Amino acid sequence: MERKKRGFETRAIHGKSPKESWLGATQPPIFQSAAHTHETAESLSLAFAGKSSDPIYMRLSNPTNQALEERLADLEEGKGAIVMASGMAAISNACMALLRTGDEFVSGNSLFMSTYVLFSTIFKKYGITARFADPLDLAALKASITEKTRFVYVETIGNPRMDVPDLKAIASLAHENGLPLLVDNTLATPFLCQPLTLGADVVIHSTTKYLSGHGNALGGAVVDGGTFSWPESRFPDFKPFIDRKGDLAYLDKVFREHHINFGTTLSPFHSYLTLIGIDTLSLRMERHLENALATARFLKTRPQVKWVNYSGLDDHPSHETALRQFGGKGFGGLITFGLENKEACFRFIDSLELIRHLANLGDCKSLVIHPYSTQYLSFDEALKAKLAILPEMIRLSVGIEAKEDIFEDIERGLAASAP
Ligand SMILES: *Cc1c(COP(=O)(O)O)cnc(C)c1O
Repeated sequence: MERKKRGFETRAIHGKSPKESWLGATQPPIFQSAAHTHETAESLSLAFAGKSSDPIYMRLSNPTNQALEERLADLEEGKGAIVMASGMAAISNACMALLRTGDEFVSGNSLFMSTYVLFSTIFKKYGITARFADPLDLAALKASITEKTRFVYVETIGNPRMDVPDLKAIASLAHENGLPLLVDNTLATPFLCQPLTLGADVVIHSTTKYLSGHGNALGGAVVDGGTFSWPESRFPDFKPFIDRKGDLAYLDKVFREHHINFGTTLSPFHSYLTLIGIDTLSLRMERHLENALATARFLKTRPQVKWVNYSGLDDHPSHETALRQFGGKGFGGLITFGLENKEACFRFIDSLELIRHLANLGDCKSLVIHPYSTQYLSFDEALKAKLAILPEMIRLSVGIEAKEDIFEDIERGLAASAP
């Protein structure tokens, strides 16, 4: 019996076709070449015309990067992908391809810190307005849509608010209003959630996190579902891209207008490391999800812990949505929790011996940070309060170590957290 489509775990390792390889190599070689020789004048001209996918120049494309693009498009059930220098490069390009001066977009207000700065401050300089709304409040999202709106944007799991918006409902709302839905799927990964299958049109990643998985390679990606039709009434600037690339008009626009001109190229070495990471994505995610749920439950039992914010807990406002949307596989690897105050958090962090204190997440190692005094340091008090960045909050990225060792280290930190 021939299976129509191999399972996610298999495709994460082998790609769509197990035979795609270079001289039998089990990992794609790192093509460390700034440009590629073409034997004939015709060949290079066809490549420039987009009629062949032969590589031209590394800023435009690279065979190692293409291997990662194919893998990510397949795992997200998309039609195509472009990898970029970082998650922020992917977010900037994905949004800018849709925005002109005077345009607006609607965004969930539960966002990664740099995304929030980009949307609220940087885009504003160019006359672009982000209208923020609670991503769990459909009516508020709807009320933010105007004639000038060009897209709706949310994160699958808000970082660090840990809320899980209903992607199917938001996709319907966006489509009813003639708008595409863009989703940052970094915290869920396609193992836990494939937003394109729930109606989203574009998926964005920081591959730096769970996809690469070892804290050793920065990277980002834009994946195009090829599902949105870009009606001329609202998207007149899409016409030449639709004529060139049909279903992949959006990705072509991201590529031609922004990615190659802003030079947001990913190093092929980073693609190589990310592809190795993706080989074990399924296994690592299973353990991240298991350990995170166990850790959230453990934290709940500790008297020094005032509150635990994790959608895997029954009483979490996003529990039902996460359970349904993530198919019972789990709830993500990130947890926030509250201690007595900022000083208790500092004492907790300073006494840890296993859990690393650094500004990253999604590494196979457990990681901890105090967002209030680090990533959000330059935000004023009122804004921090609005974004629920509390002085007593710790953010924990649960790794894949033996969970007893994670618990022991947390216990050590909690014991030291008292004055
Ligand atoms: C880290 C992160 C980003 C930014 O990615 P970089 O690779 O650091 O540029 C974007 N979104 C989310 C949800 C993230 O966690």
